[in-house]
Amino acid sequence: MKKVVLVGTGMVGMSFAYAALNQNVFDELVLIDLNKQRAIGEAMDLNHGLAFSKSSMRIYAGEYSDCKDADIVIICAGVAQKPGETRPQLLNRNTAVFKSVVKPVCESGFNGIFLVATNPVDIMTRVTAELSGFPKNRVIGTGTTLDSARLRYLLGEYFGINTRSIHAYVIGEHGDTEFIPWSQALLATKPVNNIMLDNPTEYKLTDLQKMEDEVRRSAYKIIESKGATYYGIGMAIVQICRAILQNENSVLTVSCHLDGQYGQYGTYVGVPAIINKNGVKELVELSLTGKEMNKLIESCNILNKYYSDIELNCEEKAE
Ligand code: NAD
Repeated sequence: MKKVVLVGTGMVGMSFAYAALNQNVFDELVLIDLNKQRAIGEAMDLNHGLAFSKSSMRIYAGEYSDCKDADIVIICAGVAQKPGETRPQLLNRNTAVFKSVVKPVCESGFNGIFLVATNPVDIMTRVTAELSGFPKNRVIGTGTTLDSARLRYLLGEYFGINTRSIHAYVIGEHGDTEFIPWSQALLATKPVNNIMLDNPTEYKLTDLQKMEDEVRRSAYKIIESKGATYYGIGMAIVQICRAILQNENSVLTVSCHLDGQYGQYGTYVGVPAIINKNGVKELVELSLTGKEMNKLIESCNILNKYYSDIELNCEEKAE
C-alpha cells in the first residue's frame, strides 16, 4: 500500500493529483489545504472520475495526522507574489506557510520523504529540510525536473529525434540563473557540441542559445498567456513520486542538498541525482567545464544569499 499526502490543493497540487490518478501510481491520496472545503470538493471531484480510470485509488480530504504512515508528503501550498512585493518578502510569507505545514506533518510521526514544489522551490526545499530536521536524502524539491523536460522536448524537435533518446539537463536554480551545461548534452551517445561542429550549415550555435532562453522563459510565457503553469509541473511531480515509490534509481534534476559536490556545501539546487525509495540515493556529479562550473557557483551563491536573508527571520518567528 503506497500512500501520498498532498498539502496544497491549488492548481499545481490538483494537476499532480489528476495525473497521478490517471497514471495509477499509488493506492491512497490524502488532500490537505488551509481551505478545507476546497480539499473536500477536490476529493469528491476526483472520486467521481474513479469509475473511468484504471485506478482504485482511495482519495479523501484529511488531516495532518494522516501523514503518520505516508510514504511521501508533497507540498504545493503557498501564497502568490503580490504586485510590488519583493522576492524576500514573498519568501518570508511562504516560510510562514511552511512552518504551519512542516511542523504538524513531523508531529504526526511522518517518517517518509518530503517533496516540495512551492516556489522559489530550491529555497523552500532548504526551509523544509531545516524545519523538519529530516536526513538530507529525504527532502527533495522538484528543482529543474520540468525545465530539463522542456529542454529535451525542444532538442527533440530541433534534431528530429525522439525525446527519450536525448540526454540533456537544465541545472542550477529553478529560475533566472538556471542554465544548460551543453558539454553534457548527448543525442544517443553523441555529444550535441560535436553534432554542431560536424554540421555547421545545418545547425547553428545561436539556435541553441535561443533554446536555452526559451527554456528559461517558458514559465513567464505561460503565465503571460494563461496566468499560471500547472500541468507540466504536476506530471513532473508524478514522475518523481514514481521514481521513489517504485525504487527506480532514475536520474532526475531534483533540488537536493549539496555536500561538497561542485565545491558547494548546504545549498539545495537542481542537479542530476539518482532517486529511489530512500529519496536521493546519490548525486551524479557532472564533469562541467570551467565556464559551466562558474555558472553553477553563481546560481548557488544567489540561492545562499536568499536563504541567509530568511534564516534569521525563521528563528525570530520560532521564538
Ligand atoms: P494556488 O494558489 O492555486 O494553490 C496554493 C494552495 O495553497 C491554495 O489552495 C491555498 O489554499 C493553499 N495554502 C496556502 N497556505 C496554506 C497553508 N498554510 N496550509 C495549507 N495550504 C495552504 O497556487 P498553484 O498555482 O497551485 O502554485 C502552488 C505553488 O507551486 C506556487 O508556489 C507556485 O509558484 C509553485 N509552482 C512551482 C513550479 C515548479 O516548477 N516547481 C511550477 C509551477 C508552480
